[in-house]
Amino acid sequence: MLHLKGVEHVYPNGTRALDGVTISIGKGMFGLLGPNGAGKSSLMRTIATLQTPTAGEIRFGDIDVLTEPGRLRSTLGYLPQDFGVYPRVSAYDLLDHMASLKGITSAADRRATVETLLVQTNLWNVRTKTVAGFSGGMRQRFGIAQALIGNPKLIIVDEPTAGLDPEERNRFYNLLVEIGENIVVILSTHIVEDVADLCPRMAVLAAGRIQLDGAPGELIQRSRGTVWATTIDRDRLDEMKAAYNVIATRLFAGRTVVHVLSERDPGNGFSAVEGSLEDVYLSALAHSRRASQRAA
Ligand code: ADP
Repeated sequence: MLHLKGVEHVYPNGTRALDGVTISIGKGMFGLLGPNGAGKSSLMRTIATLQTPTAGEIRFGDIDVLTEPGRLRSTLGYLPQDFGVYPRVSAYDLLDHMASLKGITSAADRRATVETLLVQTNLWNVRTKTVAGFSGGMRQRFGIAQALIGNPKLIIVDEPTAGLDPEERNRFYNLLVEIGENIVVILSTHIVEDVADLCPRMAVLAAGRIQLDGAPGELIQRSRGTVWATTIDRDRLDEMKAAYNVIATRLFAGRTVVHVLSERDPGNGFSAVEGSLEDVYLSALAHSRRASQRAA
């Protein structure tokens, strides 16, 4: 179990990227959902011990992450948002090199590890090709292969599906789900669908704060009766925005469907929306925006 308590991070330029993050994350896939600039990467880097928070506590099992970063690193697999430049060596050799950096010194053990991971990530057939020539999806699967070296108990993947086509994304996610059965996997993303499809538990991060957390189904259930929709002509949109707390608009058959947040029936042609994770997410962002406007 990973526990974060009051984690804050203020960058030297004064940006408060994390603002009192308190959350506990158990085994399985955990979705950290938030818009760009929410603080997701800052949080992922902090948990991965690549930066030290300006305040707070982080524990993983019996490891005090801030005072024993080496112990955490030995049980961590991290797939950063930007995996960087690859040398022109084969996937096999690069993974082998990374395994020795991670401390697998016996050649036989290394071979077993590298071969198993290449098969598991479906890269066995391209093991002699250079990673530099891989497609986006293959690179991400290679990223997971390197993250899995040494049987980590905690895996962090930061915005992993950017630039992947739907088939590659599916393949990548099936791999994550398989891995996520026995260990803690944190998936950071701004794509609601990713979380809805994969994660039994999730949190929304915005403005450096956890806005809500729980099981997607429960959160949808809880939001029932708070989101309302109506269909209008486009030219009435400004009027709607002035009168209601509009959280989303989309076009349907040439007209505009408006979703608004309201504790009670707004009348005026609105009907209750069944609720979706998208609505839960957009409601959380609307609350966060209003809270920061009040604070300003
Ligand atoms: P996300 O991953 O959700 O897009 P980030 O953690 O990258 O969010 O950024 C959170 C906030 O911190 C943003 O306002 C961003 O501009 C700022 N930020 C991120 N890294 C730095 C840094 N090294 N120095 C200063 N500000 C930063």
